Amino acid sequence: MDAVNLLGFDLPGLAAYCEQLGEKKFRATQLFRWIHQKGASDFDQMSDLAKSLREKLAGRAFIRGLDVISEHVSADGTVKWLFDVGAGNAVEAVFIPEDDRGTLCVSSQAGCAVGCRFCSTGHQGFSRNLTTAEIVAQLWFAEHSLRKRLNTTERVISNVVMMGMGEPLQNYDQLVPALRTMLDDHGYGLSRRRVTVSTSGVVPMIDRLREDCPVALAVSLHAPTDPLRDQLVPLNKKYPIAELLEACKRYLTAAPRDFITFEYCMLQEVNDSPEQARELVKLLKNRVPCKLNLIPFNPFPASGLVRSTNVRVQAFAEVLIQAGIVTTVRKTRGDDIDAACGQLAGEVQDRTRAHIRMVRAPVNVAKST
Ligand code: SAH
Ligand code: SF4
Repeated sequence: MDAVNLLGFDLPGLAAYCEQLGEKKFRATQLFRWIHQKGASDFDQMSDLAKSLREKLAGRAFIRGLDVISEHVSADGTVKWLFDVGAGNAVEAVFIPEDDRGTLCVSSQAGCAVGCRFCSTGHQGFSRNLTTAEIVAQLWFAEHSLRKRLNTTERVISNVVMMGMGEPLQNYDQLVPALRTMLDDHGYGLSRRRVTVSTSGVVPMIDRLREDCPVALAVSLHAPTDPLRDQLVPLNKKYPIAELLEACKRYLTAAPRDFITFEYCMLQEVNDSPEQARELVKLLKNRVPCKLNLIPFNPFPASGLVRSTNVRVQAFAEVLIQAGIVTTVRKTRGDDIDAACGQLAGEVQDRTRAHIRMVRAPVNVAKST
């Protein structure tokens, strides 16, 4: 039997594994705490764990994070790690410190199959799903290396956002145990309200997440109408806006927060006119309790798109705010180290030539308004 990476188990999974080894379930809790709360990777460190169990584990299991290709620290304290996931693929995690919280942005896939027009991951195409162990490894490594750097035993990361590379709800089976490890009191003990899954709108999986592991939900909307959203987020052709909003409403019946966050990437002269802001108000008002998060587009050369000017972002926000919709404009963090949204893993190979297809199909602005 192949040796297993224990980072891939949530606590119930680890308990089942320990039982297979003929061990008591509570041993799994001890082991889980060593791994996630203390950052241990060596069974010999686990002093209160029965020697017999340590010996059993030594041949059969291991605790291994991802190889770090690079680490960049921004002037504003943002830290970006590039991790090797084999076969020429890399994924990134970004730590964003703020006064009252520390947020880690985590990747769920190498590349992404959704192919959004404005996203550099989308332009790279899809390589593969990350395993639960690879998703958890980003948090495991970041938390414990930050503690060492800051010389503290206190928790550093209080929030996780699944907003790195990839569409988390297209890697559902690996995602859910990773979320459970983040939430578990014996793991990272994060509040459900402080773990956010961001999705481009995989409707059936929004419903499953509501039942299996409700956490905060962010939905990447980016357009007030189907014809425009079809062009920006191709998944919209499968799950159009009306169905997506219904799924959001259902989600709220079980969600830890009483609103959905809608993300809206601000693209100059594509989706950022005051008229489009009014359409957005009509779409959302009195339909889904929500907050709007406007993200100024982070340009990359192959996109052929332009970031909305601050004046246009403010005018757009003003329409929403006047209509009573809570609206924030996302601050760009880590700009100097390319850690801003949609700029992740620039070095990853483009295996599918997705960017060529996209550049050949420019966004049809005239039709979209
Ligand atoms: N696949 C998920 C999560 C990863 S992307 C999703 O799409 O929601 C995280 C957020 O960054 C999404 O809202 C996405 O639309 C946004 N984003 C992607 N590329 C961007 C870019 N170039 N500029 C600004 N935001 C971008
Ligand atoms: Fe994938 Fe999200 Fe990028 Fe769209 S925005 S291509 S869903 S990672």
